[in-house]
Amino acid sequence: MASEIRVFNTMQQAKVPLQPVTPGKVGIYVCGPTVYSFVHIGNARTFTSFDTVVRYLRYRGFEVRYVRNYTDVDDKIIKAAKETGEDAIALAARFVREFEADAKQLRLLPPDVSPKVSETIPEIVGIIEKLIARGAAYQSGADVYFEVRKYEGYLKLSKRNLDDLIAGAGERELVGEQKRDPLDFALWKGAKPGEPSWPSPWGAGRPGWHIECSAMSAKYLGETFDLHGGGLDLIFPHHENEIAQSEAASGKTLCNCWMHGGFLDLEGAKMSKSLGNVVRLRDALERVDAEGLRYFFLSTHYRQQLAFSDKSLADAEARMEYFYETLKKVDERITGKDPSTPLGAGFGDGPLHGDPNRFLVEFDEQVSDDFNFPGGLGVLSGLFAELNLLTDKPPVKDKPMVGRTLVALREVARKLAGALGLFELPPTEWLLHRRDRQVIAKGLDRKKIDEMVAARDAARAAKNYPESDRLRAEAKTMGVELMDSPAGTTWKIAA
Ligand SMILES: [Zn+2]
Repeated sequence: MASEIRVFNTMQQAKVPLQPVTPGKVGIYVCGPTVYSFVHIGNARTFTSFDTVVRYLRYRGFEVRYVRNYTDVDDKIIKAAKETGEDAIALAARFVREFEADAKQLRLLPPDVSPKVSETIPEIVGIIEKLIARGAAYQSGADVYFEVRKYEGYLKLSKRNLDDLIAGAGERELVGEQKRDPLDFALWKGAKPGEPSWPSPWGAGRPGWHIECSAMSAKYLGETFDLHGGGLDLIFPHHENEIAQSEAASGKTLCNCWMHGGFLDLEGAKMSKSLGNVVRLRDALERVDAEGLRYFFLSTHYRQQLAFSDKSLADAEARMEYFYETLKKVDERITGKDPSTPLGAGFGDGPLHGDPNRFLVEFDEQVSDDFNFPGGLGVLSGLFAELNLLTDKPPVKDKPMVGRTLVALREVARKLAGALGLFELPPTEWLLHRRDRQVIAKGLDRKKIDEMVAARDAARAAKNYPESDRLRAEAKTMGVELMDSPAGTTWKIAA
């Protein structure tokens, strides 16, 4: 019996059982990027968390519909376009393409639907009309505002107090806005020269920021759905406003469970574009392997703060190297390519060493508890320790008998890796990529290494062992370890 999945719901400030609206199916909406510049690794962490939530739910057999939007109409985009002299819609389209290239490199799953504001205008207008008809919104000049006093549940997610907020909000009111209450927020903004606009019953204009998510989630997931995700900074005002708009329009609960990811810190401050202390995802991916970065993200619980540093990235990649080295060794043993322990009689038919499926059970116990991926990685570590134990050299007497266990544990590793989005490359390929990155990072001369490998092969073929040993020693002074293999000399970066 698989463990019940429990999720921390920001609305209740408690873990609640995941009970999908339609049994066996999960609808999840994640607020996506505002596409006015390159995605930074703080956002990448949030998207990786929800990517792994989706992977785990699918691993558990749920049919998941994953929606993540693009905010391609927004004040920040218009501002950026004015600075570059580009058309705002064209600038947004360019950064959608850049985001997709980065997401692919990080191997994020493509969502089932990635709607854009610019393609959802009729639905947005439809909701605003409904809100006006229900008395929850009002037109003021060319703008339309949501009237927060008319919606009783306002601030139920963020647990803030309306009067406190209004007392603090007075000065923030923008010139030209005619609102009944300072906290009323724009659903529709009348067109200004040089800005993208669409026709509407209130004249040409464009949507406010929050209404898009209400329109898109209803369009693709229905008026009530299962999980809504985003970064912690979206709770107020964005998610609060989404709830107000959607629930005032439909009279139904927008979402049954609100999930929020923690911040990524850089040198003690939250990484954000507005603070200017950002590391772009693509810059990080030049320094660290994509799975190393994913491992780093998943090694801290998604709701906790995570501190980013070069050392933490290096540690994560070194850990990935250990996993891949182990998988390589196991695969060689299973396929009989490991010459020190040939696939011999009895390899595949010994008794199982323990129950390999215990790792699957332990993994579920961990991860079903509010997507505790660090706990899941801990189980993975236990599994890899076991794999190393079974493949240790020199082979001991009963080692030819471990084959069945190795094959079974390798399959368990494959399943857990799939649930976490790790080990997607063949081990040899990943290890070669890692070595190439290290050669560059350490400033080594690749050509020189290749020459030494060739010279050593020649020396060994000529049975010139003193020269072969000399080359090995010389390589070592460069930080390179030469190794013997049936296929000739191989090498790696010395530990
Ligand atoms: Zn949103």
